[in-house]
Amino acid sequence: MKTLKIAIQKSGRLNEKSVELLKNCGLNFENYKSSLISPVSNFPLEILFLRDDDIPEYVQDGIADLGIVGENVIEETEVEVAYLQRLGFGKCSLKIAIPNNSDIGSLAALNGKAIATTYPVILNKYLQNNNIEADIRTISGSVEISPGLGLSDAICDLVSTGGTLKSNGLMPFADVMSSEAVLIGRKGEENSDLIQELIQRVQSVLRAKETKYVVLNAPKANLDAITALLPGVKSPSVVALAESDWVAVHTVIPERDFWDRISQLKQAGAQGIVVLPIEKIII
Ligand code: ATP
Ligand code: MG
Repeated sequence: MKTLKIAIQKSGRLNEKSVELLKNCGLNFENYKSSLISPVSNFPLEILFLRDDDIPEYVQDGIADLGIVGENVIEETEVEVAYLQRLGFGKCSLKIAIPNNSDIGSLAALNGKAIATTYPVILNKYLQNNNIEADIRTISGSVEISPGLGLSDAICDLVSTGGTLKSNGLMPFADVMSSEAVLIGRKGEENSDLIQELIQRVQSVLRAKETKYVVLNAPKANLDAITALLPGVKSPSVVALAESDWVAVHTVIPERDFWDRISQLKQAGAQGIVVLPIEKIII
């Protein structure tokens, strides 16, 4: 049987979450820091640990079958790969930022200005789309210090909390793109059985992450009101209790409307609400 290869970041912001996701998919492997390749003992898969910049091209060229990388890197390298699944981590946005005391007041005011970035391809497209002619200064890192050194009037860089901008006397000015980690594959190969099996494992882990398992005791008199608040996968399970006026209700609810639902359930008389994490949801 063919052994697949998946490329993930060797070290950096996406490494830990990528390893965690693959382990949660039930894949057993050693997270060797010193080795660039690690075999999975219970699935025909090898993990390649690479610089994130190389991952899209390796996948495009078939050196790796799959990869986990930020959308920003894919856009910047302009490769042709299949987007298989958004992964919900590594969220950030590529922003143009200007010094706090800058006189740049509108996008048009970027005309003729120098913008330092490690993302010249994406920035160039953005400027073209907005009919701005600016001088893109490509540098390989520490972009935030370039306005302070007089090397640029603005920067274009990845921002998550904005703390780095702030500590360098910069403020966000325009959103160029938002990004998160994605699972990518080689175009045309996404329907192979092994790849489909891996995608399904990843999706079952992501689904579980977004959802909680809730067990609660409900007075029988209010059962309809309580089950109306609980969607469940099909509908909640209702289990008889020794006390005949009460039942136990088991269900799963999405994390996003969790707190709203919990307070409404309490108002409807639910008691002893226990919330449990879910490991996987297979549908
Ligand atoms: P490598 O050594 O693999 O080339 P790197 O230094 O280019 O790593 P990291 O800083 O580890 O990259 O970031 C990896 C990815 O994490 C980014 O491409 C981006 O998709 C995502 N990311 C999330 N938040 C941020 C942030 N605040 N700054 C930079 N990248 C972020
Ligand atoms: Mg990189």
